[in-house]
Amino acid sequence: MTVLRPPTPAALQALRQQLSQAPDGAVSAPKAPAGPNPEGSPASAAEARAAAATGLAHTAVARGVRTLGGAIEEIFLPRRAAGEHDVVIEVEFCGLCHSDVHAARGEWGGRALPFVTGHEMVGRVVAVGSAVSAHAVGDRVGVGCLVGSCRECAACLRGQEMFCERGSVGTYGAWDRFHAERTQGGYATSIVVAEDFVLKVPESLDPAAAAPLLCAGITSYSPLRAAGVGEGTRVGVAGIGGLGHLAVKLAVAMGAEVTAFTTSQAKLEAARALGAHRTVLSNDPAAMAAEAGTLDVVIDAISAPHDVNALLKTLRPTGRLAQIGLPPGGDAGQAVDAALLVRNGLSLVGSKIGGIPETQEMLEFCARHGVATDIETVDAQHLGEAWDRMVAGDVRYRFVLDNSTL
Ligand SMILES: [Zn+2]
Ligand SMILES: [Zn+2]
Repeated sequence: MTVLRPPTPAALQALRQQLSQAPDGAVSAPKAPAGPNPEGSPASAAEARAAAATGLAHTAVARGVRTLGGAIEEIFLPRRAAGEHDVVIEVEFCGLCHSDVHAARGEWGGRALPFVTGHEMVGRVVAVGSAVSAHAVGDRVGVGCLVGSCRECAACLRGQEMFCERGSVGTYGAWDRFHAERTQGGYATSIVVAEDFVLKVPESLDPAAAAPLLCAGITSYSPLRAAGVGEGTRVGVAGIGGLGHLAVKLAVAMGAEVTAFTTSQAKLEAARALGAHRTVLSNDPAAMAAEAGTLDVVIDAISAPHDVNALLKTLRPTGRLAQIGLPPGGDAGQAVDAALLVRNGLSLVGSKIGGIPETQEMLEFCARHGVATDIETVDAQHLGEAWDRMVAGDVRYRFVLDNSTL
């Protein structure tokens, strides 16, 4: 019998050392052909899709950057042959996440180039490795922010792969130690992913509108579940964008009584259309004062510096505020008033995406309750414009790349 033990501090230290020596963050020689149309690259996206379906090593057609902050260009991307536990997916749709922009513009440090982003994918299985049992050719599947983890540590065994003690493998811009390659994301015709990290997407969900559920959806769902939100729970959602609009819909579907907080007059009406029962202008001190002590849970989806204390004041005793928005610098820029927490026994927590089992649960919840992202689809030629509009907050509420336009 194998007994799984957490790694010793010394082993963890060694692992971290090893990970820090992986070429993460280094701008190393690209593995992908540097073309415009190099030798061996597919003549067309259709040819690339046909090659993917063989399950052999192939070259995907993708969109990405050749320099951090550079224009989005066509990239030819090598994808590995399907190993025995791998699933080859023809990507149909890929959501555009703020993380894509931060990473590709170098706001989160260096990256190996060229660099292809995208971690909200929905597509069809076109080939599987010999030992794959959970997925079959033709299945509609999804891939979110993770494509690997150790599967042995306490976090992985709890189904919280994002907190893998040995480091989870991000879907793009990460060093995949299991396959000795750098990960490249879903703005591409195909991707090859270990079956454990492939989600089943119910056929009743619209595939384009389901794509953002793989990052934005689970990021909103997980803290609602962790807070035990159900019938009659009073939930506040602050920041009505890609994350917040899904938090409103999900909380409503869970039976909660939802209050939306926004600084935008125009979004008050929009939030009601999403199902919010009440809306509050969060930059109006009198309106905020009227909400004091009314809520059980607040989901804070604001990704800009803002007044967390003003939101904490809306909580009832023992209430809980979950921060899911991540300001670009990683700092909300506001000191938390400890007295507020102590006096009312409040909890202030962070939440980062969600594990694979919970992501699957979320997709099934959305199928049961008809929850979908409000999206605007974009073709491959207009990705740069879509990124700019997303940064400007000019989208209701998520862009999704139609990968058939690659
Ligand atoms: Zn994301
Ligand atoms: Zn692990």
